[in-house]
Amino acid sequence: MTDTADVIVVGSFVQDHAWLTDRFPETGETRRALGFNTGPGGKGFNQAVACLRQGVATLFVGAIGDDHLGAIAQRFGEEENLPCRWQIRSDVPTAASSIVVDRTGSNLIVVNLAANEHLDPGFVHAQASAFEHAKLVLVQLENNLDAVRAALDLGTRHGLVRMLNPAPVHPDLQPSLLTQCDVITPNETEFALLLERVAGERIAAATLVDRTDVELHRLARRLGVTAVVITLGAHGCFVSHDERADQRGDGPAFYRIASEKAKAIDSTGAGDAFSGALAAAMVRFPERPFREAAGHANRVAAMSTEVVGTAPAMPWFEDVLARFGDAARRM
Ligand code: ADP
Repeated sequence: MTDTADVIVVGSFVQDHAWLTDRFPETGETRRALGFNTGPGGKGFNQAVACLRQGVATLFVGAIGDDHLGAIAQRFGEEENLPCRWQIRSDVPTAASSIVVDRTGSNLIVVNLAANEHLDPGFVHAQASAFEHAKLVLVQLENNLDAVRAALDLGTRHGLVRMLNPAPVHPDLQPSLLTQCDVITPNETEFALLLERVAGERIAAATLVDRTDVELHRLARRLGVTAVVITLGAHGCFVSHDERADQRGDGPAFYRIASEKAKAIDSTGAGDAFSGALAAAMVRFPERPFREAAGHANRVAAMSTEVVGTAPAMPWFEDVLARFGDAARRM
């Protein structure tokens, strides 16, 4: 099974610990929580689960410590029937996060990326045989950049679609890493940071959603990536293709897709749902226009906001069909 995965996600695993509180504590104050929840997270693992649940054979490659949380990570993978290649390190712990959510839904997060930052590029290269049969490689920026580049290099060598969810934007990110990608999926904040880093253009992230499509397309083109998909939270997403390149079956080179109506209660992981589902849709229906894959990702991401948690909140393909009927079936 693992050698026939269509999508390979090289990324992070983080054990999330989330506390619900009526209000954030002051510095030095201890507050009683209204509730507590712990579960699997990390952008890579979340995206792998989102992709798998859309019915696509998926392989996850990541690093954990030789410890209790690492054992839990392995069990999550098994329970999900997600094939995983774990680099188990004895020198660093498994990643863990602390998330405090208040009654308004705002959150404060501290994460120790730990083993993810030590994923060995050599370990990634050792998975080369899996890349021979795959169609798409999906990476994020919660690992060290050498490991990310190793995954993209393997993707290039084997002719895979290379997708990067540039989150969180890494301080050492070079424009050359972006140009190694076919598709990137930044949210508004990440897009603004990339624009400044790569093109030296400063914009306020909060102003993006109100800009015209022509202006967003102009800004997106400055990143030098053939397909840029900006996720706009509750406003859906914006797609920008390079007019000189293959537009993946799309007519207009740029367009916006409105969000789906959702009873959102927890939007953490929505971006992961979007990237995982976009990868899945591109692989599952390669002959369909890119716009339909982005529309599918928009639906999956909306549904993920209606369930608490990240990886466990990813909907299955059948649930998306049941919810959106014909629109999803055309996918
Ligand atoms: P991130 O989680 O990376 O910050 P966004 O907040 O941009 O990403 O959300 C990713 C995607 O999730 C959006 O493009 C949209 O498809 C979906 N989404 C997010 N919030 C909502 C919402 N309130 N209602 C419907 N869809 C949403």
